[in-house]
Amino acid sequence: LPSSVYTGRFAPSPSGPMHFGSLLAALASFLDARSNNGVWRVRIEDVDIPRSVPDADKWILDSLHAHGLKWDGEVIYQSARAEAYQVIINDLFATHRAYLCTCTRKMIRDNGGVYPGTCRSANYRLDDAERPAASVRLKMDNPVTEFNDRVLGRQTIPAGHATEDFILQRKDGLFAYNLAVVADDIFQHVTHVVRGSDLLETTAAHLSLYALLEKPAPCYAHIPIAATEPGYKLSKQNKATGLDSSRASENLIQALKFLNMPVPPALLSHNCDKIIRWAIDHWDCDLLPKTREVIVDKSESTY
Ligand code: GLU
Ligand code: ZN
Repeated sequence: LPSSVYTGRFAPSPSGPMHFGSLLAALASFLDARSNNGVWRVRIEDVDIPRSVPDADKWILDSLHAHGLKWDGEVIYQSARAEAYQVIINDLFATHRAYLCTCTRKMIRDNGGVYPGTCRSANYRLDDAERPAASVRLKMDNPVTEFNDRVLGRQTIPAGHATEDFILQRKDGLFAYNLAVVADDIFQHVTHVVRGSDLLETTAAHLSLYALLEKPAPCYAHIPIAATEPGYKLSKQNKATGLDSSRASENLIQALKFLNMPVPPALLSHNCDKIIRWAIDHWDCDLLPKTREVIVDKSESTY
């Protein structure tokens, strides 16, 4: 496939079973891809290996399957991509766009939580066997602070969030999500990202990294997060339960309602494939609620 073809993806972290919040991200990214005759990929974001729950990847893939969300090609795993991430870090380092930071969390907290670039002038070499343990940070000389979101419109991300020299690799050697997500979206030729609005602020950092790597960035659409009360994301309290695959069509109907696409009554008793077909035919990104969260009623079964 040529790399210019619409390519979307769903990129779950395997931290537990599929829940309503992850179904929303999966469904919205799937419908946007399919209604554009695009490719839809699934990537397991297990870059934070210690926080990954064994078998959660299989639960998620089984759940996607049960809900009629069929992906294209092989599922890739971030845990298998360390070499590719290292190549990027080495390159950024060699060209003075990344540096080693020995600061502690406490030092950064004492500075108000935003990293002030303290170690920018320290000249440790990446391959120096004698050097102290350190994280690798990106030198944000020209940070991107604005972008157009397909749902929420023009976004200006506050300094701090957008301009901080963010971590590419942690002191313990684990690669950071902010590096992995960009490296993988480039690797998989992703042209369109549809994901939860909890990642809105980090998008600015991702765009800065695309600019430094001289790669075209995808278009972003951030969908609202389901919350039980303002500021209280549903998935956090819901993680243990997960979606019931035996009620897959009900789950889809509820997710579509959340996305402002109420399924017509005549379709309510149909199977997932029929509901998905209808949703592809009727998908319109402009229908999405233009808010960062939507409050859901906890008493409804799917949640
Ligand atoms: N892995 C992230 C999550 O599960 C999503 C990342 C993304 O869609 O860019 O929250
Ligand atoms: Zn530092």
